[in-house]
Order: sequence, then C-alpha cells, then structure tokens
Amino acid sequence: MARVPVAEGIFTWPSDDPQLVGSRCTDCGIVTFPSQQSCPRCASMSMAEHLLARRGRLWAFTTQSFPPPSPPYSGPSGKEFVPFGVGYVELGDVKVETHLTVADPDALQHGMEMELVVVPFRTDDDGNEVVTFAFRPC
Ligand SMILES: [Zn+2]
Repeated sequence: MARVPVAEGIFTWPSDDPQLVGSRCTDCGIVTFPSQQSCPRCASMSMAEHLLARRGRLWAFTTQSFPPPSPPYSGPSGKEFVPFGVGYVELGDVKVETHLTVADPDALQHGMEMELVVVPFRTDDDGNEVVTFAFRPC
C-alpha cells in the first residue's frame, strides 16, 4: 500500500523529517501557510517557497468530537470517526491551523512545545493510505 499525501505541496514527502511548505514574500518578508501566489500584506507577486520549522508552540486548541460536514471533510465518518484535536501552532513567523494527535483537552496546554508528524488520514479508492500532517506534544 502506497502512502500518498492528502494534497501535493503542503509538506515535504516522502521524508524522515517532513516540513510544511509555506511561502515568504521577498519584498516584505511575511510568511504564509499554505503557500500563496501573492503577498497578503503588500500584494507583491514575488513569493518564494519557505520551509517551516518542525517544532513550535501550541497557541490555541479545541476538540472535534463529531465528523465535520462533507464535503470538504473527507476523513472517517460514522462509527469509524475518532475525535481529534484541532488548533493553531506558532512556528516562529506564522501560525498554522492543524490537526493535533491528542484529542484530550486535559493533555494539552497553551504554549506547550509541539512537533510536526505525518499521520494516516484515510484510505482512497485505489487502496492507497492517504497521509496528512498533524502536530503532537514533544
Ligand atoms: Zn509582502
């Protein structure tokens, strides 16, 4: 079974040390994730690929205890659904909205150090394991 990313260009893959792929404005320096074609601050079209740090601090979080509406959600639903954490992790220049590997709010704390991991998300129609990124406490 092949492991394929949930979308191309979101994180470096395959990789033992995957990194999120953002963009950085070469005119004003702002960093975005996901990457963008034009700068949201100065409207420059001069955006360069920018790999984000693998570790950061948990900035905000909550728990998703029921399947989100589909589409756009394409993960497990019904009896296969497993609650998951969602939140923002601050990676230096940018805050990233992300799944968290921990769904228990008592196990999460503002400011705790988090690390990027690539985790199974679902199985596609061709039998490939679709993987996505998440952050876990470290
Ligand atoms: Zn800019």
